[in-house]
Amino acid sequence: MIQEEKKMFPYVIINNENCQNRDILIKAAEEVTFPLTKEDREITEQLIYQFRHEENCAGLAAPQIGFSKRIIIFSVPEETKEHRVDAFDTISETLLINPTFKPLSDKKRLDWEACFSVNDYGGEVERFIHVYYEGFDINGKEIKGEAKGFLARLIQHEIGHLNGQLFIHLLKPNARQGTLEEIRAVRRSELEAMKKASAQE
Ligand SMILES: [Zn+2]
Repeated sequence: MIQEEKKMFPYVIINNENCQNRDILIKAAEEVTFPLTKEDREITEQLIYQFRHEENCAGLAAPQIGFSKRIIIFSVPEETKEHRVDAFDTISETLLINPTFKPLSDKKRLDWEACFSVNDYGGEVERFIHVYYEGFDINGKEIKGEAKGFLARLIQHEIGHLNGQLFIHLLKPNARQGTLEEIRAVRRSELEAMKKASAQE
């Protein structure tokens, strides 16, 4: 019943001058306390609603919908394997409160990223390929695990949002980057080539 009354919140977008509260994207979000306050519960419900109703959304963080709180949500469904060569781990919808991560290897990998808080832009950024992560569910129960490849990237991207970091802040000057249309074309041809190469191995 409450679900039906919910609406999508507009995203806070760093490169949209009409967004009043863009600062929220570049500052550290607040730690959440347990048991959740009514307000935090509502933010959590909104984030879940938004995530479930968004197309092609791998993950979201509370500051993206205007709340400076340490809450993220993400999933890696089976289909991700079709367009991410390193989507080894799949995971169902996971909400993490006060999440943190630690790299389990120094190795990093470059891959494409985009974000609902960055309008029409994407680029290649380096992320750790193997991380340990932990956080809490809505009831304050600890959740922890290891993530590799794309899931590790996703967790780092979302936790970055809680620390005021967007993927554009990690773009090296020589990194490939561009509008979504430009990078889509590049990614498509690269993916084909990689799939062909791995088929021949
Ligand atoms: Zn993002």
